[in-house]
Amino acid sequence: MQLEIRGLSKTYGNGVKALDNVSLTIPTGMFGLLGPNGAGKSTLMRILATLQEADAGTAMLGTIDVLKQKDEVRKVLGYLPQEFGVYPRVSAFEMLDHIALLKGVTQRGERKALVEALLQRVNLWEQRKRRLSGFSGGMKQRFGIAQSLIGEPKLIIVDEPTAGLDPGERNRFYNLLTEIGENVVVILSTHIVQDVQELCSNMAIINKGKLLYAGPPDSALRDMREGWEKTIAKAELDAYVNSGKLISNKLVAGKPIIHLLNDGSPGEGFVTAEPSLEDVFFGFIHASNQAPVNA
Ligand code: ADP
Repeated sequence: MQLEIRGLSKTYGNGVKALDNVSLTIPTGMFGLLGPNGAGKSTLMRILATLQEADAGTAMLGTIDVLKQKDEVRKVLGYLPQEFGVYPRVSAFEMLDHIALLKGVTQRGERKALVEALLQRVNLWEQRKRRLSGFSGGMKQRFGIAQSLIGEPKLIIVDEPTAGLDPGERNRFYNLLTEIGENVVVILSTHIVQDVQELCSNMAIINKGKLLYAGPPDSALRDMREGWEKTIAKAELDAYVNSGKLISNKLVAGKPIIHLLNDGSPGEGFVTAEPSLEDVFFGFIHASNQAPVNA
């Protein structure tokens, strides 16, 4: 089973082209969809989750036509949206029980066993009687995974799952995601490079609705040009930003450390740096932001 997306496009009423002829083959396992805010990730996720219509293109999950056979998709879909919106004042147990009922687990004993197993699996057993409205960000995300796993989904879509989680919660969430079967297509949409680095065997980078890269993170790293690094004074930063060559910069102990990609040393004081996935990401985004519109 794999997900085949061909020529998917979506333009909103205000003229924003959120997806521009995107084609992607997504195998089973963890797939990272990486892009900055506004890249079109949520639009793609919502279309695949049957919550929104595309203007053009196709998406096939095995033999299911995702854009047309919405009921079939929903039977095998687990969707964890960015925000659930309102968290009701009911307990985690009651809510999971209710969702399981909606998903067709009508036999009471079977449902109880399923909900109990899910609560154990996402490590919310101790909190099963607590109201969802009082859950922390990490607990809400783990609850989200539990509800998305009801019905043994074949396609799991997780939209920006780690935004707003503290490092401990993020780790617990990563561990949980990696336990989800290898036989399921899991799409993880994120603007956080670390999410993809730690979890995903395949990835795509999108920006402004366009696909910029698709493949394993390792191959993207191998294809990179040489990376160069230099610690500079803050006052020098603007000149590098304006040069258009800067890939990334971060502050370490109050001083900017900049990264450039260049064949050969870009100048005095630069040392070679192993390119990171972050460099790959910023390199692609940077190049696409420089490209003329409609190119
Ligand atoms: P991401 O999830 O990568 O942040 P989105 O898919 O949310 O990106 O948005 C892609 C682009 O489409 C952005 O420019 C955004 O402002 C625009 N957009 C998203 N939803 C709507 C909408 N309902 N109406 C109009 N424009 C939208």
